Amino acid sequence: MPAEWTPKLAEWDRQHVWHPYSSFDNPPPVFPVVSANGVRLTLADGREIIDGMASWWSAIHGYNHPALNQAATEQLQSMSHVMFGGLTHAPAVALCQKLVEMTPAGLNRVFIADSGSVAMEVAIKMALQYWASRGKAQKHKLLALRNGYHGDTFGAMAVCDPVTGMHHLFSDILPKHHFAPAPQAGFDEQPADDDIAALEALFSQHHHELAALIVEPVVQGAGGMRFYSPGYLKIFRELCDRYNVLLVFDEIATGFGRSGELFAANHAKLSPDILALGKALTGGYLSLAATLCSDEVSDVISRGEAGAFMHGPTFMGNPLACAIANASIELLLSQDWRGEIQRIETALKKGLEPARALECVNDVRVLGAIGVIELKSPLDLRTHQQRFVDNGVWVRPFGKLVYTMPPYIMSNEDLATLTAAMIASVE
Ligand SMILES: *Cc1c(COP(=O)(O)O)cnc(C)c1O
Repeated sequence: MPAEWTPKLAEWDRQHVWHPYSSFDNPPPVFPVVSANGVRLTLADGREIIDGMASWWSAIHGYNHPALNQAATEQLQSMSHVMFGGLTHAPAVALCQKLVEMTPAGLNRVFIADSGSVAMEVAIKMALQYWASRGKAQKHKLLALRNGYHGDTFGAMAVCDPVTGMHHLFSDILPKHHFAPAPQAGFDEQPADDDIAALEALFSQHHHELAALIVEPVVQGAGGMRFYSPGYLKIFRELCDRYNVLLVFDEIATGFGRSGELFAANHAKLSPDILALGKALTGGYLSLAATLCSDEVSDVISRGEAGAFMHGPTFMGNPLACAIANASIELLLSQDWRGEIQRIETALKKGLEPARALECVNDVRVLGAIGVIELKSPLDLRTHQQRFVDNGVWVRPFGKLVYTMPPYIMSNEDLATLTAAMIASVE
């Protein structure tokens, strides 16, 4: 029997349970959810609210989906987990095959990780071990973009935006890397000359010590919900090739259609050397992530001094998560995902456009199934979170940003309700 929500549990939650980026000192309210179905969350008080967050980009098919439920229950009948060291199984191999086939060309080797941050740790370790294996251990620094976000573990944190990424809290502990300006040119513009010049200067000055350039292609997520020109990806690729630096794409947020292409790299029709995926990989059912790399990267590592890639999480390749990921990808590819994302893009543009006229609003932007209202000053999360719920939607603003990345199954009617509630809540 599932545990029932009670006032006692609420009190225990407040006293003992960490939530993301939370404090026990006068914490803002958390809303108990008892079930989730389609695009709706049911709260313990019986209210149903429309989920505009897809549980942080992950629940692309909505909740309680029959095809994903079936994949989970069927897999449970055979095994939910076995170790991946020395053992293998169909769900993992089938998933790796799918990922190799659907991702940009040349990414033929797959490391299955357990969360996005771990996938980034693996990506960073691959880049460093690649250069160490080539006898160039001095290439151990990374170049990342300002306003970037790559996860909360230490390796990933060190390539997050140096200001908003809390580097100052851990300044003696975090490795020091290099940072390029956040791309200024928007999605439909040409890359800005001074951005290109700044990148060229960083590459020419530091390439001797650079292992990799790490970026979120086209969409910078948690570091500011910014969209930038795919033209930059061509510049990144060109500079990396010219200066012998690996190119790492963090598509943990953008993967599986969110930006309007299956992967954001496809906007520029090119491939990175290393690609990290996560979030929507299991359709929001279980934590799972993957890091793919080129034959060149994996061959060099495999023939290097260590003779192996030195990583292996306990729950690597978890069969239950892999089976659900396989079902989620099949579901995505069996439908007109491009048409659905375009439908959502149109609805978000239409629904959010009126926000532009508000005094408190600085910018409104939409790309694929991502809609952002950027305010002139930060919102008070405490009052606004309550207001969104009272207006019937689950939207979690941070700082100046009120944004949505809904499940792909959201109807036009629900999208209209969602966007209207977003506007009413900031007004
Ligand atoms: C969410 C996210 C991560 C971290 O993934 P977790 O599963 O939360 O560890 C890394 N990079 C990007 C771009 C993300 O959006």
